[in-house]
Amino acid sequence: MHSPSRHVCSAASAPTTWYHASAKRPFARTIPLVGEVWADVVVVGAGFTGMSAALDLAKAGLKVVVLEANEVGAGASGRNGGLTCSGWRHDQKWLEARMGREDARKLWLLAEEAKADLLARMRDLQIEADWAPGQIFAAHTPGLMRALDEDAEFMAREYGYERPHRLDREHVEEALGTSAYHGGWRDPSAGHVHPLKLLYGLTQAALVAKADLHENSRVLEIGVNGGKRFARTANGRVVAEHILLCGDGYLDGIEPDVEARVLPIGSFVVATEPLPITSPILPHHDSAMDTRFVVNYWRKTADHRLIFGGGEKYTPSWPKDVESFVRRNLVKIYPDLSAIQVTHAWGGALGITPTRLPFLRQIRPGILSASGYSGQGVVLAPYFGRILAACVLGQQRDYDVLDRMPVPHFPGGRALRWPLLTAAMSWYALRDKLP
Ligand SMILES: Cc1cc2nc3c(=O)[nH]c(=O)nc-3n(C[C@H](O)[C@H](O)[C@H](O)COP(=O)(O)OP(=O)(O)OC[C@H]3O[C@@H](n4cnc5c(N)ncnc54)[C@H](O)[C@@H]3O)c2cc1C
Repeated sequence: MHSPSRHVCSAASAPTTWYHASAKRPFARTIPLVGEVWADVVVVGAGFTGMSAALDLAKAGLKVVVLEANEVGAGASGRNGGLTCSGWRHDQKWLEARMGREDARKLWLLAEEAKADLLARMRDLQIEADWAPGQIFAAHTPGLMRALDEDAEFMAREYGYERPHRLDREHVEEALGTSAYHGGWRDPSAGHVHPLKLLYGLTQAALVAKADLHENSRVLEIGVNGGKRFARTANGRVVAEHILLCGDGYLDGIEPDVEARVLPIGSFVVATEPLPITSPILPHHDSAMDTRFVVNYWRKTADHRLIFGGGEKYTPSWPKDVESFVRRNLVKIYPDLSAIQVTHAWGGALGITPTRLPFLRQIRPGILSASGYSGQGVVLAPYFGRILAACVLGQQRDYDVLDRMPVPHFPGGRALRWPLLTAAMSWYALRDKLP
């Protein structure tokens, strides 16, 4: 089967993103791995998770080799919406019901720490990634506005989280520049970044710390031989004490246990020509997302382009015309933009899990994996990379709660996950169309 990860990853078929057109890569091209090398840690995948882990490990003095199937930024980290979100894909009430109050609270604190850590790291490493604060969660039905109100009240009462403020219908219209929503909440501690600049910054810092990076070096097999772990590419092999699997939605065919729990889905984005300075759309430069199951997410870039993500695919086939696929959703929210010029349209694969909670686990001794951020990876993936590094370094932190996160196999396992997921997700997507 032609998997979406291969499709989007392949240099020939991956459409150029606006990010690639607007970020300067600050490090030279690297060469593919040839021959056998030894390392303390081999990292598979050069996205946020992998480069973040590589940075901490190289800084700690370990010999780290990163193997990337394509080039840095080919995966989701270089092509996402850039929204830096608070919390998890599910609200805290959902987490409390499944995991109990204490673990749900630990997870909330962890997500808050991840958000703060991202900002601190960008500051400390002097990564200029156009970070801007503010995120609006907009309700597309009155019932969902009531649900958002209840959630905000619960978070203020039970978690002391009082930062978001309510936007009634009139104020959400002013803040978004559309009358499509019934109200919303604005979280000033969430926001948005230029994701590729962030990834380039982390990569540059890891290279300065002496991590080795080999692009165009797809890992075809991992295993254990004579007590040592290895990762094999077409022309080389890294023998290492530890393997970190950081391939998320692009990991394909090398670790069945991860792939039974983490499935790639396709998400699609357009960038428009710059809007006039006087445009009523997002006048305060917030980012935004809505309450739809197939979520719409959007923001303006530093040069006033609209980056708009809308539409997902749960099958291995991708839309032939990404621009039209996304534009359909864009004009429902901003009808006045029906004639706007789209300069770039692209898609990417992101890993989701059955419960939409990330999957971080020691798969076998010395082999760790982190993925499945289910659309919240801009904040979570760099932080989970740090957790992987802390595990390798044996640092004493209480991450046991991550082991207790319920992340089962998809029904049907690796073989049947596509058809069953497609049926389930398409049914939920259909519900977005109901009033
Ligand atoms: C279109 C889109 C929009 C999104 N919008 C948002 C958003 O607004 N906010 C948010 O929080 N999240 C968003 N996400 C999700 C977010 O981008 C991801 O969760 C995050 O980037 C995952 O980072 P990662 O490093 O784990 O994986 P990736 O960035 O996908 O990197 C994985 C890397 O591993 C490599 N790889 C895979 N297999 C192998 C192998 N066998 N050998 C060598 N290399 C391999 C791949 O080539 C790839 O470069 C979006 C994702 C997409 C696709």
